[in-house]
Amino acid sequence: MSSTPDVMEKLVSLCKRRGFIFQSSEIYGGAGSVWDYGPLGVELKKNIKDRWWHSMVRSRDDIEGLDAAILMHPRTWEASGHVAGFVDPLVDCRTCKGRFRADKLEDARCPQKPSKQPGQTEQCQLTDARNFNLMFKTHMGALEESASVVYLRPETAQGIFVNFLNVQQSMRQKVPFGIAQIGKAFRNEITPGNFIFRTREFEQMEMQFFVEPGTDMSWFDQWKQLRMEWHLALGLSPERLKFHQHTAGELAHYARAAFDVTFDFGGTLGFQEIEGVHNRGDFDLSQHQQFSGKKLEYYDQPNNKRYLPYVIETSVGADRVTLAALVNAYREEAVAGEDEGRVVLGLHHSIAPIKAAIFPLTKKDGQPDLAKAIVQDLRAAYAVDYDETGSIGKRYRRQDEVGTPFCITIDGQSVSDQTVTVRDRDTLMQERIAADQLKQYLATRLVG
Ligand code: ATP
Repeated sequence: MSSTPDVMEKLVSLCKRRGFIFQSSEIYGGAGSVWDYGPLGVELKKNIKDRWWHSMVRSRDDIEGLDAAILMHPRTWEASGHVAGFVDPLVDCRTCKGRFRADKLEDARCPQKPSKQPGQTEQCQLTDARNFNLMFKTHMGALEESASVVYLRPETAQGIFVNFLNVQQSMRQKVPFGIAQIGKAFRNEITPGNFIFRTREFEQMEMQFFVEPGTDMSWFDQWKQLRMEWHLALGLSPERLKFHQHTAGELAHYARAAFDVTFDFGGTLGFQEIEGVHNRGDFDLSQHQQFSGKKLEYYDQPNNKRYLPYVIETSVGADRVTLAALVNAYREEAVAGEDEGRVVLGLHHSIAPIKAAIFPLTKKDGQPDLAKAIVQDLRAAYAVDYDETGSIGKRYRRQDEVGTPFCITIDGQSVSDQTVTVRDRDTLMQERIAADQLKQYLATRLVG
C-alpha cells in the first residue's frame, strides 16, 4: 500500500470523458483488458515515444533504429526460450471459476469477495499451480497445421537480435553500439488489469546495446543511470521513482544483472516496474547462432578477434509510462476566489497533447476571426486547439483537465490593439502580449 493516494478510478473516467483512452470494442461490452487511445491519448503516447526515440536514436551516433515485423519465424521463439519457458504459474478457483497468477495473488481480488485476495475466504478452492504459456498462437498461411504455427511476439527484442549483423554491417557500426525499436507486443496475461498498466496488447520501447564481454557491467551501470534520468526528465516526481534490484531468485536464468525502474502508482498498486534494465550476457546471440546455424559473431578488425557481444537491454512499456505520466500529473486543487476547485493534469509540456488553446471571449465583433488566424499561425509549429463554446471558465477547466500548458484569450481589446491574454496552466498567471509575439513566447515558455 502506497502513501500516495489512488487516483486510478478518477483517471479512467477522465481519460474516457476527455478522449484519452476508451475501452476496446466498448459497444460489445469491451474486450478483456485491451484499450484504444483516443485523440488526446494518441498524442500523449506519441509524444512519449518521440522523446524516447529522440534520446535513444536521433541524439546518438552509436544507436540505430529498427522496425522489425511482429510475426517472426517460429524457431525464433524456441531459441529465445519463450516456447518452453515464457510461462506464468496459473491457479484456478473451483468455486468462482476465477483464474489467477499464483505468484501475484496479493495483487488479485476474489471475484465473490473483492475485499479479500483469492484463497483467503473459506469458500475459495484453489488448484495447484500449473504453467501457462503467455504467447498468443496463430497460423500463417491457409492451412491450420502445426508447421504453420506462428506467435504474436511477446517482446520486441528478438527482432533486434536476429537483425544484429544486418544492422551492424549495413550501418558500419562498431561494438559498442545499440539497436532501438518501438513496437507492439502481445501477452496472454492471466490477470491483466489496472487500466493500461497490464494489458494483453501493448507497446514496448526496447534498446539492445552490444558490448565487448568484460565491459558489460560498466555499460550496465551507465544505462541504468541514463534511463532513470530519462524518466526524471519526463517530469515523473523523484520521490515516486526508485530502482528495484533483482535478487538472485528473481533473476532470469540468462541474466547477469537486472534492475527495474519502479514508479509509485499510489493506492494498493504502489511501486511497480515501468522499465527493466538487464545485462543478458551473450545468451540471445548464442541461442540464435545455435538454432539458426548462422554465425553471429562480431569481427573486431583492429584487434583481429571474433566474439559474441554481450547485451545490455533497456525495456520500457510505452503504455505503462503513459499511465505513470497521467498518475503523476493528476491533481485536484482549490482555486482562490472560486467555489469550485479544478482538476489539472500537470503534464510535462513536451508530452501535453495540446500545447495551447485559443479562445475568442465572444462569438462576435471579429474575435473568432482573429482567434482563427492565430490558430492557423501557431498550427505550423504546435498542436493547438480552438474553442469558442461555453463560458470562459468552463473552457479553462476543460484545458486544465487535459494538461494544456497555455490558454490564449482574444477579447474586445485584442481586435483593436492586436494583443491577447495568455494564461499559464500551473501558476494561473495571466499576461497580455502582442499577438505577433505568440510564437516566440511559446518557444521560450514551453519546456522541452
Ligand atoms: P511484469 O513483471 O510486470 O509482468 P515483465 O518483467 O514481464 O513485467 P518485461 O518483460 O521486462 O516485463 O517487459 C518490459 C516492460 O514492458 C515492462 O517494464 C513494462 O513496462 C512493459 N510491459 C510488460 N508486460 C506488459 C503488459 N502486459 N502490459 C503493459 N506493459 C507491459
